[in-house]
Amino acid sequence: MPDARYPTPLAAQLADDVLERFLRYVQVDTQSDSDSETVPSTAKQLDLGRMLADELREAGLDEVELTEHGYVFATLPGSTGPTVGLLAHMDTSGDESGTNVKPQLVKNYDGGDIVLPGDPRKVLRAADNPILAENVGHDIVTTDGTTLLGADDKAGVAEIMTAVAYLAAHPEIEHAPIRVGFTVDEETGRGVDHFDIDAFGADFAYTLDGSEVGRIDDENFSASDVRIRIEGHSVHPGTAKDKLVNAVKLAARIVERLPQNALSPETTDGREGFVHPVRITGTVAEAEVRFIVRDFDAQKREEHEQLLREIADEVANEESRATITLSVEESYRNMKEYLDADPAVTEAAEEATRRSGIEPWREPIRGGTDGTMLSARGLLTPNIFTGGHQYHSVLEWASVQEMATSAATIVELTKLWAEPEWTTRSDTRDRSAASPR
Ligand SMILES: [Zn+2]
Repeated sequence: MPDARYPTPLAAQLADDVLERFLRYVQVDTQSDSDSETVPSTAKQLDLGRMLADELREAGLDEVELTEHGYVFATLPGSTGPTVGLLAHMDTSGDESGTNVKPQLVKNYDGGDIVLPGDPRKVLRAADNPILAENVGHDIVTTDGTTLLGADDKAGVAEIMTAVAYLAAHPEIEHAPIRVGFTVDEETGRGVDHFDIDAFGADFAYTLDGSEVGRIDDENFSASDVRIRIEGHSVHPGTAKDKLVNAVKLAARIVERLPQNALSPETTDGREGFVHPVRITGTVAEAEVRFIVRDFDAQKREEHEQLLREIADEVANEESRATITLSVEESYRNMKEYLDADPAVTEAAEEATRRSGIEPWREPIRGGTDGTMLSARGLLTPNIFTGGHQYHSVLEWASVQEMATSAATIVELTKLWAEPEWTTRSDTRDRSAASPR
């Protein structure tokens, strides 16, 4: 009798392999470091890179390569169709330790709370986790409560490995040519700084770096960093009357003028954007307030930047002896601006999800992915679910059945791209000079 926890027989068939790989990969410490200047930011990421390169060779993939920047690339030739890129990042977040990860497998989850064995105060509560509560009967992987799990993004790595190993072992299955890419330093925001799109050679790609099963992401924030610099005038406080201009107080005045109950991460969700002061530094003589500004709509993002400009001008007018300057640096744009150039790329991910027995949906990401930067540079790269949850925390967990569904979706996706109906739908012209609409 088929196991009802899996939406398709293929997902059931891939489950053991995806679990075995996942448990192995999460035990390799690959935490990246945003303060490091080296590439990759931590040498330990290469431990997993070497392991994956060996396993790709053993699975029979071609052109397996660990590049000088720490990326792992490999090829699985296909029968026909565009070359499909499959991407996942090997590093884990700096928010929690990734050293000595001890995964716990809770088979046939009963719907109750899961106590994490390394720290009894850490409990995965069904009441706080509606998705966990829905997954009664699933096999759940958690941490021991002292580290993160690293399902972000080793779930994606394990799913891609499982899918390509399956296809390599079944040459009778027709699929499009595949390029595999495992990246470093996604969590530091520098994941694709050295990613050579031409050398990768895919017509388009997918990151396996999402979460809830069925969710496809084709939108992310449009993002900028804003700095407001304040130059005051420092005088010995004993003789400062009518002379001293305190930059610290002016910085505080600027922060105080921000909207109190709106336009902040702590008061918004869904499609709403925000301005968010993230750092304040300074002395009496000079101070700086740094903000991140986010919105899905680039125009609205500019309006939020304008609001900061108005506040800075207001305070500058009140204290004409101070010099207040504002600078804006764009970090990344909403990838939908680029993905709309070839809707078939995202639609194919949805169709593959359907063929894996799951109804897909789209939801904008309140953040960015490697695919955000790659899409801007011409390699269209939407994001696919992995079945991992509560990322960057010791309460991170993943469902084996969902990871298997994701691996099955990758197989369906690469099969689909070898079908004439889909091959002709995608516009695979050179998009290296792509620009937003
Ligand atoms: Zn991730």
